[in-house]
Parts: sequence; C-alpha cells; structure tokens
Amino acid sequence: MRVEDALRGGMRSLRAARVILATDPLPARDLLCGSPDTAAIAETLRFPPALRCATARMWFDETPRSGAPGGMFTGDFAIDNFFWLHRLHDEFFEWHEATGGSAIEVHFYATDDVLDRSDELLLITAVKEVQRAFPSLRGHYLHGAIRRNGRTQTKFLVPTAQSLHVQTPWPGVFACGDWIGHPSPAFWMERSTVTGIEAANAVLREVGAEPWAIIPPRPPELPVRAISAGMRALRRVFGPLILGGARLLRGQGRLSGNVGR
Ligand SMILES: Cc1cc2nc3c(=O)[nH]c(=O)nc-3n(C[C@H](O)[C@H](O)[C@H](O)COP(=O)(O)OP(=O)(O)OC[C@H]3O[C@@H](n4cnc5c(N)ncnc54)[C@H](O)[C@@H]3O)c2cc1C
Repeated sequence: MRVEDALRGGMRSLRAARVILATDPLPARDLLCGSPDTAAIAETLRFPPALRCATARMWFDETPRSGAPGGMFTGDFAIDNFFWLHRLHDEFFEWHEATGGSAIEVHFYATDDVLDRSDELLLITAVKEVQRAFPSLRGHYLHGAIRRNGRTQTKFLVPTAQSLHVQTPWPGVFACGDWIGHPSPAFWMERSTVTGIEAANAVLREVGAEPWAIIPPRPPELPVRAISAGMRALRRVFGPLILGGARLLRGQGRLSGNVGR
C-alpha cells in the first residue's frame, strides 16, 4: 500500500495484514479494478455513480425575522436546502451581533445544465431565489461565494449481491462508506459511521479483540407498520389489474401502430 506520510513527508509503502477501504465509490472502483490482485472480481461488482454539487454562501446587511435555522426549498427553486450560518456557527454569530447582518448557505443538487453555469450565474440564481423566499433581504445583498464539490457524492443504490459489502470478497480487506452493503437501513453520514464501526469490528474480531456494539435501528412504529401493511395489500389486489391494463394498452398501441404503417 502506498501512502502519503504527513508527519515525516514523502510517499511510503506499507505492508498491512488488514485494510479498511473507506473511499467514495469512484476511487474505490479505480483502486480495485486497477489492482491485479482484485481486478477480476472488482470488474463484476456494481459501483454506484456519484454526483457533483455546489454550495453558495451569501451575506446580507439585514436579517429576516427568525424562523427555522435551516430548511428546504421546494417547487421550482434551483437551490435545495439552506442553513442560516449566523445561527449555527459562532464566527458568523459574532459578525451578525456586530453588524446586524445575516449569512446563509444554500446547496445546489442540480443537473449538469445548472452546475455548468459560471460561478457568477450560479450566485445570481442563489441570491434571487433567497430574496424570493425572504423578501426582506431584497436590496440588502453584500457578498457571495460559490464552492463546488467534485463528483464525490454517492447516488445511493440499494446494495445487492453485486455490491461491495463491509466484508469484501478479498481476505483481510473490509470496506465502509455511505454506499457499502450492510443490513443497516441508515443513509449518508450515519451509514458511513455504522459501516465504519462494522469494518473496525471485523478487524477486531480477526485479532481476537472485543468488537463495539452497534445499536440496532428501532422497528417501525405501529402507524407506519399499519400503513405499509395496507399498501402491500392494495398492491397485491390492484397491482395485477393495473399491470394487466398497462400491458393491454401497450399491446393496443403496438397494434394500432402496425395498422397505421
Ligand atoms: C454538500 C453535501 C451536503 C451533505 N449533507 C449531508 C447531511 O446533511 N447529512 C448527511 O447525513 N449526509 C450529508 N451529506 C452526505 C455525507 O457527506 C456523506 O454521506 C458522507 O460524507 C460519506 O462519508 P464516507 O466516509 O462514506 O465518504 P467520504 O466522506 O466521501 O470520504 C471518502 C474519503 O476518501 C478519500 N479518498 C478518495 N480516494 C482516495 C484514495 N485513492 N486514497 C486515499 N483517500 C481517498 C476522499 O478524499 C475522502 O476524504 C452531504 C454531502 C454533501 C456533498
């Protein structure tokens, strides 16, 4: 294994009896498919795609009346979620106290045609949309900045037998991350953490040490269980009817297409 030695500087080679792979999906695919020892199996695995995103931070010399410290934009907004930075971070709070201004961060989880726009255009979109949602900020914009993230955010696919799981097909190699197969229903950061503990536990078990307990998720509450049982029953009764109808319509469409030809 080649690693960058932050302490002494330079690149070093390490021999390790056990390795936990903790990268995002695309570098994991490159590493595993690029290594002669793992390539044959790795090429049969399904690695989820990854998305890029951008964040905009904006400063205003006015503060809207208080609401939630963060939330979502829905409907026809290009921006997705927002966080009032002066309500979450001390340094922004100090600035707010000193100036009466506000600072907001918004995220674009958008399609390529939006993310391909220049920083200036993205910022104009973000400012306009924030001012649409918080009209008291109109005419109070001070400054803004765009930060872009590369293609590192997992597009989650439910793991299957073809996915990489905590216990990989290679002895001594374990994996963790928000895209890694594990029975836990957790998502994103929580999934990375659960699979991280599980991967560390796998190493601890191999060396005869005590693993850490993973708190199991609580079972769904009664109303959720009742709704899901109802949905399953409805699907069982009406599903075949709907599918049959769709097939019939598709068949008729094909028939009329042939007649027309
Ligand atoms: C803008 C944004 C907002 C988010 N908000 C939330 C949220 O509110 N809540 C939530 O739960 N999740 C959120 N997420 C998702 C969350 O960040 C991820 O689920 C989580 O960080 C995944 O952790 P991970 O350890 O699996 O991978 P990562 O955090 O992606 O870590 C992988 C690491 O591997 C490193 N790496 C890659 N290649 C190599 C290599 N060859 N050698 C060595 N190192 C390598 C990378 O540099 C990186 O540090 C957000 C993500 C984004 C992008």
